[in-house]
Amino acid sequence: MSASEFELIQRHFSELGSRRDDVLLGVGDDAALLQPTPGEVLALCVDTLVGGVHFPQDAPADSVGHKALAVNLSDLAAMGARPAWATLSLTVPTADEDWIAAFARGFGDLARYHGIALVGGDLTRGPLSVSVQAAGFVPRGRALTRRGARPGDAVCVSGTLGDAALGLCLWRDGRADLDEDSRWLVDRLHRPVPRVSLGLALRDCATSAVDISDGLAQDLGHVLQASGVGAQLDVDRLPLSTALVQYAAREDHLTQAMGGGDDYELCFTVPRSCLHKLDAIASRVGVQITRIGTIQPDGGLELVHADRSPARLGKAGYTHFDAS
Ligand SMILES: [Mg+2]
Repeated sequence: MSASEFELIQRHFSELGSRRDDVLLGVGDDAALLQPTPGEVLALCVDTLVGGVHFPQDAPADSVGHKALAVNLSDLAAMGARPAWATLSLTVPTADEDWIAAFARGFGDLARYHGIALVGGDLTRGPLSVSVQAAGFVPRGRALTRRGARPGDAVCVSGTLGDAALGLCLWRDGRADLDEDSRWLVDRLHRPVPRVSLGLALRDCATSAVDISDGLAQDLGHVLQASGVGAQLDVDRLPLSTALVQYAAREDHLTQAMGGGDDYELCFTVPRSCLHKLDAIASRVGVQITRIGTIQPDGGLELVHADRSPARLGKAGYTHFDAS
């Protein structure tokens, strides 16, 4: 790394995020020195976003910084962990200081909001790529995993589904700025809100959880497989935003909601005995929670309408949407 890259790190990354007492030594040495919380286990995850693959190359730099951290916080949320530390490895094609400053601002704002300290990382030149590793804590034995879903549990999701995939269509088509709804959908793509508070609240009642990064069908599928169960979903209950209903053709709603990735909502299972807690949790954390189905003893993922008639996914393809 050149001297100028050291200077860039010093200027933009040395004090990023929150100050924390458990960081004994942060950015600037060969490694960070961190003091884990006694009695809690460490939840650790890493995610790499490659420009042109995981986000559009022309996405705003502050959004790239936000999203690179947000997708990791979403993984911690799905474990019921409280985020604490992050490391960052940023590869950029040129040392464009304006871009790097905006990236650091997007990353830093979200880190501060969640009380996270950036404790290390590096900056290199090459094709645009961002790797973030995030660490959080959860009391021993209380983490949410993908393994605990049981027959009879309710299947629930936070927020609304399919928005980010539709936002990507609008962004690619240069239609991000049509109106408030289109801007909101593109924001769902570029600036996902990790459901950290919801994940913490669910430690008291959920039997399993996963974050929706690759689409509900795929991510819920991981839970069903890990738990050795099936699920029946009532597709007429899938939560859709008014913006999606406005911009996606009616026949694409189901495919969009089941297959659209990048929403970073949580999908979780709750025993019937705990369902009464969900309204209070939803209002406390300020996130909509919708019950969309029930865990079955087996049978994979079954989609039905409210009248129990089978529902079918259309062919995958998020390019079909109706702007009328
Ligand atoms: Mg995940």
